[in-house]
Amino acid sequence: MTSFDSIKEQRVAVIGAGIAGLTTAYRLYKAGIPVEVFEARERPGGRILTYYEGFSYEELGGKFIDDGSEGTELKALIHELGLQVETYIIPFEKIYYSQGKAHNYYDLFLEAPPPTDENYHLIKRQSKSERLLTALRRFFSDHQELLRVLELRIANYEGSATEDLDDYYLPLFWDFYKRSYQIAHGEEKAEYKIEYVQGGNTRLVQVISHHLTVHYNTPLTKIFKARRKIGLECGGKVQFFDKVVLAVPCTILRTVEIEPHLFPDDQLQAVRTLQYGTAAKIIFPIEIEDTNIPSFAYGSDFVVWFNRDYTLMTLYAGGNAGKFEPSRAPLERFLQEIQVLYPQVKIKGNPPMISWWNEQYSRGSFSNFGPHQYDLFNEKTFIDDITLKKVFRPVEDKIYFAGEHAALKYHGTMEGAVSSGNQAARLVLHAIQKNC
Ligand SMILES: Cc1cc2nc3c(=O)[nH]c(=O)nc-3n(C[C@H](O)[C@H](O)[C@H](O)COP(=O)(O)OP(=O)(O)OC[C@H]3O[C@@H](n4cnc5c(N)ncnc54)[C@H](O)[C@@H]3O)c2cc1C
Repeated sequence: MTSFDSIKEQRVAVIGAGIAGLTTAYRLYKAGIPVEVFEARERPGGRILTYYEGFSYEELGGKFIDDGSEGTELKALIHELGLQVETYIIPFEKIYYSQGKAHNYYDLFLEAPPPTDENYHLIKRQSKSERLLTALRRFFSDHQELLRVLELRIANYEGSATEDLDDYYLPLFWDFYKRSYQIAHGEEKAEYKIEYVQGGNTRLVQVISHHLTVHYNTPLTKIFKARRKIGLECGGKVQFFDKVVLAVPCTILRTVEIEPHLFPDDQLQAVRTLQYGTAAKIIFPIEIEDTNIPSFAYGSDFVVWFNRDYTLMTLYAGGNAGKFEPSRAPLERFLQEIQVLYPQVKIKGNPPMISWWNEQYSRGSFSNFGPHQYDLFNEKTFIDDITLKKVFRPVEDKIYFAGEHAALKYHGTMEGAVSSGNQAARLVLHAIQKNC
């Protein structure tokens, strides 16, 4: 038997058909390894989900391709699959809601403390010994409204309230503060680049899954060791594999029955404790005559923006405001504020919505680090020429991790998810080639 034949005899399972699992499976498939994907839902994509209405669409999950990065690996995958990236620039005019009125957001920065290096280091020193939020509250003590809006921005961007975040997020906060300050003082252009998959991000997961064997409605419920193989119970059926890639969020892995001592303690601890945000989205179908309106608005605990053709308006809420059951969404309150912010927008029909915290197979929007968690989750280890997060290293060369949470960089994003999938596939390939 040639070594290629023995490679083909390896049974490989990927759990989860989100973009991380699909990327892993696609890379293995391209390398000639037979691979099966087991997915709990009846669709691919997980936290990538486009809402379509006629020719319009908007994202209920991951939207911006270049979120916090250039999106290099994600864009490479998109182009490899024959899809296009849609890019456009919007004027970044913003308003915020306060005491029953709409106000110009940039006015908040006119009397604000300048974003100098000295000020940055002052907050940084303080946030080392106390919570990020405490340091920010002290620094912005004379600018309560500004702090509220800045906190809202962070709560939405990271999915958790500022009081629940590690000081790792300070540079991100500061970059955002600096840019808004510079725009307010006429030192920067008020514009924003938007990038997504042409036709909606769901196109990406649909096209990639067409190349693969995906078993839908087969949730993983149990994982155990069976001599030299790994046993999985998926959709009520037990099967055995040589290599298994777990590409589901840690919130879900916590609910799976894992054979005692299969995972080393530090890895089990990581799976149990990684923090997830609670972001939710509501997409309102709208009608509007004049689209010359501010492109972005802050409500008291949510933000709002429009799709490219101004037919859909997204409400995005993080932290506590994102935690709701669909039947109990505080729609009336949201709509009252939206009416003040955008009196010219007419809302029609019932809005689709998802609180990702409440979704059975997500239980959170994306991973982030709680106070003092960054170091635990970011210790690195090396396997061959591959650098990876120590807590998500392979278990006995048989179980691998993928998913935005496992990414070395850009966790919490689609870029991170794709990157983790590329990495998991490389690790599996290395291990298979070594054994043959
Ligand atoms: C509201 C929101 C806004 C976002 N905005 C952005 C953005 O603008 N830009 C950006 O880059 N990122 C954004 N993200 C994050 C991005 O969507 C995610 O990081 C990325 O999609 C995660 O991919 P993944 O494959 O790691 O996980 P997932 O997409 O969660 O995939 C995991 C898969 O596993 C399946 N699964 C779960 N349990 C089981 C089980 N027991 N057995 C089998 N399968 C199971 C799930 O159904 C899912 O398909 C956003 C996310 C949300 C929720």
